[in-house]
Amino acid sequence: MTTKDLANMIFPDITKTIEDYEKEYPERELKEGARVTRYAPSPTGFMHIGNFMSVVIDYVVAKQTNGIFYLRNEDTDSAREQEGAVEYIRHVLEHYNMNPDEYEYRDTKETKGIYGPYIQSERKDIYHAFIKHLISEGKAYPCFLTQEEMDSIRESQTRDKRRIGIYGRFAKYRDLSPDEAAERIKNGEKYTVRLKSSGDFNKKFKFDDLANGTMEFPENDIDIPIMKSSNLLPTYHFAHLVDDHLMRTTHVIRGQEWISSVPVHYELFKTFGFKMPKYIHTSLILKKDGDKIRKISKRLDPEARMTYYEEKGYPIYSVIEAIMTIANSNYEQWREGHPDAPFTDFEFSPKKMSASGALFDLDKLDNISKNYLSKLKATEVFDLLDTWSKEYDVEFNELINKYKEYTTNVLNIEREQKKPRKDYASLSEVKGQIWYMFDELFTDVEYQFDERFSKEAINEVLNTYFNEFYDENDDKDTWFSKMQQLSDKLGYCSNMKEYKENPDKYKGNIADVSNIIRVGVTSLQQTPDLYVILKLLGKDRIIERIKKIG
Ligand code: GLU
Repeated sequence: MTTKDLANMIFPDITKTIEDYEKEYPERELKEGARVTRYAPSPTGFMHIGNFMSVVIDYVVAKQTNGIFYLRNEDTDSAREQEGAVEYIRHVLEHYNMNPDEYEYRDTKETKGIYGPYIQSERKDIYHAFIKHLISEGKAYPCFLTQEEMDSIRESQTRDKRRIGIYGRFAKYRDLSPDEAAERIKNGEKYTVRLKSSGDFNKKFKFDDLANGTMEFPENDIDIPIMKSSNLLPTYHFAHLVDDHLMRTTHVIRGQEWISSVPVHYELFKTFGFKMPKYIHTSLILKKDGDKIRKISKRLDPEARMTYYEEKGYPIYSVIEAIMTIANSNYEQWREGHPDAPFTDFEFSPKKMSASGALFDLDKLDNISKNYLSKLKATEVFDLLDTWSKEYDVEFNELINKYKEYTTNVLNIEREQKKPRKDYASLSEVKGQIWYMFDELFTDVEYQFDERFSKEAINEVLNTYFNEFYDENDDKDTWFSKMQQLSDKLGYCSNMKEYKENPDKYKGNIADVSNIIRVGVTSLQQTPDLYVILKLLGKDRIIERIKKIG
């Protein structure tokens, strides 16, 4: 029996060859310089912020070169697959407006693109053709090592301080004759298919990573598994080779954790004579923890999961900006010069990624977000708030929709001016900033009156003001001069300078007076423009509120 016979015996139904697939998935006809990137998640549950950074870079790199960004579902590990994971991934891409150009969704049977299937478990025949080819050429072989044998090899290697893996003399089945292998398979023995590595660990090769520069690695000499015995699907390494080759990926953007697999991938591409794509291994995402800097952790840090940003209601703009800022060191500078440009206009440069790690900072995100929200129109903030609260605060959603115009006016306080207020970074913070403008929320309030003033003094200010002075139709200047008149009438000083010179002559000053009014109406010491607040509340509601203080 030859290796070719063995290959036929293992894969009797696989008739297509590598050449057939080469023809079926030809080079893409794209303009010079166009890049093909992909997001290739394993549907194992949630999206880490590091995955999201890869997505953003994938997207930018494809869009800025008029290329293609596609989604591939890497579902070869059914044991780790979590229900709803694919839907969540899709949701995130849609939420952030980074929809892939090519994809396949099994649940809705939607698909786009001619380089599919884009779901690995549907590509079994393709992988088998490639594996069959290798076995046929004697470059891969069935391996019958049991789990116990592999455990004991690992133990002995650890004990003897050797490299871990199936290589050299540990690769017990690499030289088994095709006849013997066929016999064992016929007897129903379980096997994996392993690459018959031709690498030499003592030799080095150079590898260009677009982010990390030229790196040197020892050649791979490990007979890595390429097909699993459990479900006959390929391992990550082998699927990477087949898929990124046939789908004509030009740039693989993936996490740092894959750098150590480069020697394996280098050997696989060389074995088939395929051109390797270019690689960008993204930096780890770090955070400050006290005075330490450490890797962001999905266990310790809620912000490691992408669900965090949606729950909090960070606008998509803010999240993408924060990610771009850590992805490329010159992004912020570019943004200063191009305040209104879409982020995809930025020319992403892998060389400007920080190799030592990208420091993510929630304060920075908050700053970006506060700025962004402060520059929007009130109607735009209303719409964002409406969408967010529909999902995360239904009661508040009903309230703002019941008083839509009013809420918009509230959101507009101190907005249309040179330096608009920056009260909130996320939509979940808005309620905490404007709650007192809604009677429905203005219940059981705690008034923050200054303790220097007695209840009588407070009532005197409030009653005199609203009975004798306040007129809803006053313009701001008149409003202010009435505040002065009120102060003078009740023995508070209306001129701060005079007050400072002779504080004992007065009960207090005009700031105290307006503060009493502010607290009386809102319960708070600090609010935005009191004049506008009073106008928006309207006299009737104000009087109702004042009565409650009693
Ligand atoms: N499925 C792999 C992962 O989720 C993909 C890595 C890659 O982008 O090649 O980590």
